[in-house]
Amino acid sequence: MPEYRQDPLTGRVVIVAEERAARPHQFDIADKPYQGICPFCEGNESLTPDETAVFRRADSEPNSPGWTVRVIPNKYPAVVSGEMPINFLNNSFMHTVGKADGIGVHEVIIDTPRHVLSIAELTPAEIAGMLAMYRLRLQALRADARWAYVQIFKNVGAAAGASLPHSHSQLVAIPFLPPSLFQMLCRADDHIHRHKNCFWCKHLQSEIQSGERIVEETEHFAVLCPFVSRFAGEIEIYPKHHEAGYDQLDVVLLDELAGLFRHTIMRLEKAVFWMKDSLAYNIVLNTEPFRFEREGTKVDISSAFHWHFSILPSLARAAGFEWGTGLHINPISPEQAAKRLQDADREPPTVFRPNRG
Ligand SMILES: [Zn+2]
Ligand SMILES: [Zn+2]
Repeated sequence: MPEYRQDPLTGRVVIVAEERAARPHQFDIADKPYQGICPFCEGNESLTPDETAVFRRADSEPNSPGWTVRVIPNKYPAVVSGEMPINFLNNSFMHTVGKADGIGVHEVIIDTPRHVLSIAELTPAEIAGMLAMYRLRLQALRADARWAYVQIFKNVGAAAGASLPHSHSQLVAIPFLPPSLFQMLCRADDHIHRHKNCFWCKHLQSEIQSGERIVEETEHFAVLCPFVSRFAGEIEIYPKHHEAGYDQLDVVLLDELAGLFRHTIMRLEKAVFWMKDSLAYNIVLNTEPFRFEREGTKVDISSAFHWHFSILPSLARAAGFEWGTGLHINPISPEQAAKRLQDADREPPTVFRPNRG
C-alpha cells in the first residue's frame, strides 16, 4: 500500500509508492527504434488492465479493438483504491498523524489507438476526443465523495518522465489538497473578498489588452506565456469566460479548444526552446478542487478559481538552486517566448520525433 507522508515543518507531502519502481522504461533504450509490443496500440487490449471508461464503436466489445479513447487503471499506480480513513475528511489530518494510506485513483488515458508520440501527430478529432474524456472522467470522479482533487497531466519525452512512446495522458485523484494548491486557493479566495472578481478573469483581460505575452486567441480561448514563467516557453491556455471546473466546459467548445491545443503544441515543437532531439514537456490541467475547507469551514471556490492548462517545457532538470530555494531561473523572458511562439507558426511544418524509443 502506498503511503502519503507529510513533513510538519515544510508542509511538504510525498507519496511513497514502491510499486512504481517496477514500471517499464522503454525510453531507457531510446536510441533504438521501438521494437517491443506496445500495450496501448489497438489490438493489444489484453496486455492492459480492463478499461474503466472508453469511447468506442457501438458494435464493438469492451477491451477489444474499435475504440478511439480508452481509460485503464495504471498498472504501476502511485496511489490505490481503498476505503477512506475518517480523518481524510479534515484537510489537516497529516499535521497530526504525519502519514496516511495512499488511497486514490491513478489512470492512464490512451489518447489514440494509433502508435504516435506527439499531440501534434493527433488529428483535431482525436484531440477533441481526448479533451472530452478528460471532462468525462472529472465528472465521474467529482461524484465520488472520497476525492478532493484530480490532477490530469501528460508527460511527453523521456526528460519529462514519459515511460511509453504512445500518446497518453494520466489522471491521479487524491483525498486532500496538495499544500501548494491549498495556498493558492487561499490567496484566490482572499482576492475575491477584496476585489469582488476572479483574479484570473481580471489578469486575462489586461493580458489581452496589452498583447505582450499573448500567443493566440480564438473566440472563447486565449493562449499566453505567463508573466511569471518558470520555464523558457511556458504556456497557459485559458477559457475567456469565467469557469472554475474544466468538467463544466460546454461540449460545443471542445472542437475550438482542440484546434487551439494542437496549434499551440505545433508552435512549441517548432519554436525549439530545447536542445535538438531532446524535446520534452509536461501538460497539466489546473481545475477547481471538488472541496475546499479553510479552518474547518467549507468554502465555495467556484467564483474564485479559473481552470487552465499549463504547458511546461523541460529544458533542463531543476538544479541545486531550484531544489534548495524553490526559485526558478528562466533564461528566456515570457515576452520573448511569446514572440518566438508566434513566429514559429511561419516556419515550415516539421514532425518532431525525439527519443522515439
Ligand atoms: Zn502504441
Ligand atoms: Zn475567472
